[in-house]
Amino acid sequence: MLKKIDHIGIAVSSLKKSIPVFQKLGLELKGVEEVPSQKVRVAFFQVGDVHIELLEPTSPESSIGKFLENRGEGLHHIAYETGDIEEEMALLKAANFELIDQEPREGAHGTKIFFLHPKSTNSVLTEICAHKETK
Ligand code: ZN
Repeated sequence: MLKKIDHIGIAVSSLKKSIPVFQKLGLELKGVEEVPSQKVRVAFFQVGDVHIELLEPTSPESSIGKFLENRGEGLHHIAYETGDIEEEMALLKAANFELIDQEPREGAHGTKIFFLHPKSTNSVLTEICAHKETK
């Protein structure tokens, strides 16, 4: 079962330019992390118990780089938190959602994640994630 929105991912071309914008909006910057496997640098903000992630590509060949090229900056994905990632994957598979990942994989901060293809979710790239401590 989905519990809440965990985070919202926003594609930006420059963290340096975008971080001050979101700080000015009133969000608290919690840190910046490079995820080499995704060729992306991520700035984490917190508002309530939801994170906003700014995603900056470190290579034009990354999926964020291609997203920026095709669609420009903006909303990239919504991530929902679940308590049991394996069970959630089985449920969504059975409900005929198209999965990008066939097995849960490692996300940032020790999470397990998988993505649903936007083709099956009204063009919204959707991530399902589980935190270790809540499993
Ligand atoms: Zn995410």
